[in-house]
Amino acid sequence: MREDGREAEQDEDDDPLCPPIPFSAAEERQYCRPWRSALVVKVLGRSTSYTAISKRLNSIWAKAGGIQVTSAKKGYFLVRFTSGIDYERALTWVPWMMGENYLTVHMWDRHFNPYEHEISSTLVWARLLEIPIHFFHPEAVMKIGRRIGKPIRVYQATRTGARSDYARVCVQVDLTKPLLSQFRIHGKKYFIQYEGLVRICLQCGKYVTYSSCQCSKILEPMEDETVVAPKETEAPQPEKIYGEWMIAKRKPRNGKPSAHNPSRAALSPPAKQVAPVEHNTSGS
Ligand SMILES: [Zn+2]
Repeated sequence: MREDGREAEQDEDDDPLCPPIPFSAAEERQYCRPWRSALVVKVLGRSTSYTAISKRLNSIWAKAGGIQVTSAKKGYFLVRFTSGIDYERALTWVPWMMGENYLTVHMWDRHFNPYEHEISSTLVWARLLEIPIHFFHPEAVMKIGRRIGKPIRVYQATRTGARSDYARVCVQVDLTKPLLSQFRIHGKKYFIQYEGLVRICLQCGKYVTYSSCQCSKILEPMEDETVVAPKETEAPQPEKIYGEWMIAKRKPRNGKPSAHNPSRAALSPPAKQVAPVEHNTSGS
């Protein structure tokens, strides 16, 4: 019987020292069933313990039901949900944070291998510094966001104009490429700042812990919350594409709640569509 190619392969290549073990598609579907609604989670930019992430995920995701967290090596964790509502919410109320760091969240699939898996994209909050207030219109913000990456949604306080020093948009960015640092509207230059991407290379503009950046000019964030766009007098030279403005400053250790991690209640309602999370395994 040859239900799929694998059994044919077995017939052709039955090495007794390294025997192929045939599994039919139906068998594999059955084994996948418990993991069908699982998410693959990793804290971007730092390692974390099972206890810490389990505590965090239970507090933010186990609302209608429970979750089960499984350690998967290389900093990855698998999360299974007893409630479909919680699962959908985890996928749509993005981005999620753990302290100052993003939680990258991907749908599990059977090709997931923590030793081969590479995070090539993440959802981040991008701030469009000092743009005129009429460009806080959600359509304008999403249009700008499309030059940054794949925009997911506009922050609620931006929609209402409650905070006017920057417009804030959640964007899926490609971490293998330089981050967009600036853009122009009617010839005037505006700058982009990223929350939670704490190490950006000033030479190549890439997020450092992921990219293959070999440069030495890595920018470290300072302990301050002030939003700063370059002033006219200190405007970047034409050749200066990347700069300090790109990194949102960290909150003081003893300080107020961080603008990086606003209350979930302040966020806009969950988007209807499932977040465009991608599962990139090496070689694909
Ligand atoms: Zn670099």
